Amino acid sequence: MSYAKKAFAAAALSGKNSKELVQAGRGPVSMAGENPAQSSRWPLSRGEIDGIGRFRDLAGQLICCRTPAGVIFSFYSRGCPPGPIESLVRVVELDRRNEGHMSDTLTIFIDGLPFDELHQMPFSSGFASQGRLVPVLGYSVNCQTQLFTGKTPDEIGFWCEWSYEPDRSPFKHLKALFTLLSPLERVYVAKRVVHRFLDKLAPTESTKNIPFRYLPLFDETGHSVFSPKFDQASLLDTPGMTKFLHHQFPNTDQLDEEIFKAAKAHIESSDRPGHVFLTLVKIDHCSHWEGVGSKPYNEMLLENDRYIGELTEAFIAKVPDGRVFVVSDHGMANIHTGVSIDLEGHFGKPCRERYAYFTEGTILRIWITDKSLTSEIIRYVDEIEGLDRLSEDERAKQGLTNRAFGDVIYHTPEGTQIIPSFWGPKPSVGMHGHHPSFPSQHGICLSNRPDDFQERVSALDFYQCLSEAINE
Ligand SMILES: [Zn+2]
Repeated sequence: MSYAKKAFAAAALSGKNSKELVQAGRGPVSMAGENPAQSSRWPLSRGEIDGIGRFRDLAGQLICCRTPAGVIFSFYSRGCPPGPIESLVRVVELDRRNEGHMSDTLTIFIDGLPFDELHQMPFSSGFASQGRLVPVLGYSVNCQTQLFTGKTPDEIGFWCEWSYEPDRSPFKHLKALFTLLSPLERVYVAKRVVHRFLDKLAPTESTKNIPFRYLPLFDETGHSVFSPKFDQASLLDTPGMTKFLHHQFPNTDQLDEEIFKAAKAHIESSDRPGHVFLTLVKIDHCSHWEGVGSKPYNEMLLENDRYIGELTEAFIAKVPDGRVFVVSDHGMANIHTGVSIDLEGHFGKPCRERYAYFTEGTILRIWITDKSLTSEIIRYVDEIEGLDRLSEDERAKQGLTNRAFGDVIYHTPEGTQIIPSFWGPKPSVGMHGHHPSFPSQHGICLSNRPDDFQERVSALDFYQCLSEAINE
């Protein structure tokens, strides 16, 4: 019998409340467990037992189930160190008594609000807990998703929105058409028109500035946890959570104001607001095109602070013991220099037999099919000033070991942007997606309880704290 099987048998047989779980039947329960192998305790978690004895937490994560022999075995992944994520635990508490008495939570998500700007926000800088959120290397699509799923890019299965997928690209049969259209790319307006046209017809959301002839090599595989296309479990699935998400509102200059008003009206009009969740996204856009520290940016900081203040006060007036969280996915830095890359000039046009690459504002990913090119490509890009190669150690730390994310990954230092890139033809005034070792890239993580967050926190820390608050 393998070690894992022995551990399982021991855990299953010694599980104090195995019978109770079997007998609990379907429906909502609270449950706690412990991992005998690691002497670690799994805090009380709310969830549902389904008709065949499986217990899922409120994020939909499978925590325990019953074997065909009627024995309970359990696995628990949150909080375990990297490695095999399923560890055996035994159920030590099972409780239906507090059913229906969850504490209410208000979670305000702000896209791209840097921790270093918090001091300019009089209300928000007064929160009892103030963590400096260190994001994963990458863009909002992963930073946001990790906050509400707890999963790294390796665990969630995607990194960045577009990826090298020549076999499943929705454009794979259109090579001849795109070769014909390529000359249009020399005229900016014509290029924009074709991209808009593609975005209307194609199943993808945005073809950005991807060169037409490279589209058959790529597919849009990454979707943020906020997107209707996101199809994995997250805390946003919490039963009874009232959500005000930006894509549900018209995308106008008043977008944040409308979301704020709708959330505030909900809080004020209900006896118990329950779990409330909203997304404010305009400040990210403002910093990209006006820059951090610009007049419109500073005004928007104060506007966000007002939203946070009014929502928090309205919420606490209804639920004095309610939990309030304010979190952003990443920070932002102004751009002062550009770097350009000419892989075509050195290695010919990308194709599936040789190599492919994808450039974004701050990240370059290269996939190499013809391995005889590897060392030459690395030598060429290593010599470009303004691009740093991500080491294998660093890939492991960031949860980016999957080779589908690129055989080689480069990123730009703070303030440097790849121009032009597949993301856009022009430089932005502000940008994120630099390495998280730069403090400018850190987001905020606030709570109204003193011990929730201190100093540096990760997206997983936030996920666990919110998850426990929801389960409380
Ligand atoms: Zn952004």
